[in-house]
Amino acid sequence: MEYYILIEEYLKKLSKMTVPDPMSIGTSVAGLCKFLRVAKVVAYFYDSFKDEAMGNGRSTCVYSTGEECTVALSDRLVTEVNSVAVCEVSIAKGAEPWSYTERERIMLVLKTTMTFISRLRLKQVTDMLSFYDADGFHNLRYFIGHLEKLALDDRLVGKVAILYNLKHFSLVNQQIGREAGNIAMKGYYETLRSDLDEEGTVCRMGGDNFVMICGRTELDRVLRYLAGSATIFDRDTGDRVMISACAGVFIIPEGFELTSPGDILDKIISASQSARQPQNDDVVYFNEVMVANKERAVHIQQLFPNALKNEEFLVYYQPKINVETGELTGAEALCRWLRSGSVVPPLEFIPILEQGNEICRLDFYMLDHVCRDIRRWLDEGRPVVRVSVNLSRKHMADVDLLKHIVEIIDRNRVPHEYIEIELTETTTDVEFRDLKRVVGGLQKTGVGTAVDDFGIGYSSLKLITEIPWDVLKVDRSFLPHEDEDENSNRAIMFSHVVSMAQKLGLECIAEGVETAKQVEILRENGCKYAQGFHFDRPLPVEQFEEKLTAHHYEV
Ligand code: C2E
Ligand code: MG
Ligand code: MG
Repeated sequence: MEYYILIEEYLKKLSKMTVPDPMSIGTSVAGLCKFLRVAKVVAYFYDSFKDEAMGNGRSTCVYSTGEECTVALSDRLVTEVNSVAVCEVSIAKGAEPWSYTERERIMLVLKTTMTFISRLRLKQVTDMLSFYDADGFHNLRYFIGHLEKLALDDRLVGKVAILYNLKHFSLVNQQIGREAGNIAMKGYYETLRSDLDEEGTVCRMGGDNFVMICGRTELDRVLRYLAGSATIFDRDTGDRVMISACAGVFIIPEGFELTSPGDILDKIISASQSARQPQNDDVVYFNEVMVANKERAVHIQQLFPNALKNEEFLVYYQPKINVETGELTGAEALCRWLRSGSVVPPLEFIPILEQGNEICRLDFYMLDHVCRDIRRWLDEGRPVVRVSVNLSRKHMADVDLLKHIVEIIDRNRVPHEYIEIELTETTTDVEFRDLKRVVGGLQKTGVGTAVDDFGIGYSSLKLITEIPWDVLKVDRSFLPHEDEDENSNRAIMFSHVVSMAQKLGLECIAEGVETAKQVEILRENGCKYAQGFHFDRPLPVEQFEEKLTAHHYEV
């Protein structure tokens, strides 16, 4: 009778368990073990038959009286994925051997427990596969489930949905190594997650993009954390790296009804795309303007093919001047879109064309039109200068880029030295390698190369020492302002950048020169060339041709 009471108690406890925890199984089965004169129960788990044969597994002591004992019974269970569980039951040394009934009863308890454990483990595995990614982060499916659960319980309104993207994580990986980078990424995520209440969650969408839900009162703290937190990447030494993120935020308003999780995801995706733009803040709240922007972007992408065919894009030329002699020494070709009678500046359409690959077609179009102009100037006997053409980073993926550039220049019969290609800095090692290959290749063909906007991105010494550029274009943010003296940070940085360029044998040009005083600063620092509104804005071709003929500015 006692046996039946004990087994009923045990089964009740077992059925309440949600995880196969050996400790709680041990305490639950203790009564039965005592009754059946069991001294010890040990379970072994092997991930494969091979591991089992080599004794390469994990073991857990589920129950023990502490007496000296010998194994008297065992059971082996193979799961559907060929992992193996073995359970050994021992009897105390010198004890009277188990009767037939006792053995039967022990086997029954054993088999029931093993089946129960394997069912729970299977559930764990399927949960794991469904709701976690390969690196152990909660995944998007989990996030969607979480949203739906909150919506079902009317707990969604007032919550905050965030999509954040780790800033320059490829640089972090370069700095500390990929493995340490993984540890840091996980640590950054775990800390954020552990600070949320049970209605909050953080999940990885893929790569370095994460989505999360938090309460309104937690938002400030979360945003402070995302703005930058020192995160451990080496557990032994406790060494840390700074990790920060940019984020798109949507505060779920009163009356919001979730018809599909996409309603929320779409909003935080557009807000986060906006937060990723370098000119915007790192945190962008979703608003309806974004919907309009998105629609505009789609519209521009649709108009582009015909606009290109109809030659609606014009080349404007901005002169480059030698500040010592006043001589016009070159020009930068800048794109303008003549649309329905008005001139659209490039920042309104280039970032959109860069979302796809349309920008590459536009850049080749620009190069082609510049070459046509140069050819014409040569034929007309004008004094021709070298013209630089901007090339988007999107071209880096084109293995035939060099061939395409040279083909366009040669087709127009333009001597290579009249063309210069402007490229901006890169952030990843892969892009760096491509950039090095492209710039090195261009140098061999005699086409000039310039690193554009130097100083605002992730300029590294490596970028200018390992890549054979001809020209370094110092970004205008380095130019000291009117009210700053030579001891201002900007002035000090400027003079260092210029002298570094000189030492490396690079031609140095300052962009965005707007005042006579800035021209003076250029001269004082030995920066020989200038481009900027002080001399001229980007000009339509006819006006530029007049400047070409005049060829000199007052300095
Ligand atoms: P960028 O290549 O750095 O070009 C210089 C930008 O600075 C031009 O803006 C020019 O008008 C502006 N700028 C020149 N002098 C001054 C000044 O004194 N003060 C101020 N505040 N600005 C000055 P723009 O023409 O609006 O072009 C903006 C950017 O668009 C360019 O920056 C370039 O990144 C991109 N872009 C323009 N045309 C093309 C193109 O054909 N292909 C590609 N891929 N990008 C282009
Ligand atoms: Mg440029
Ligand atoms: Mg520039």
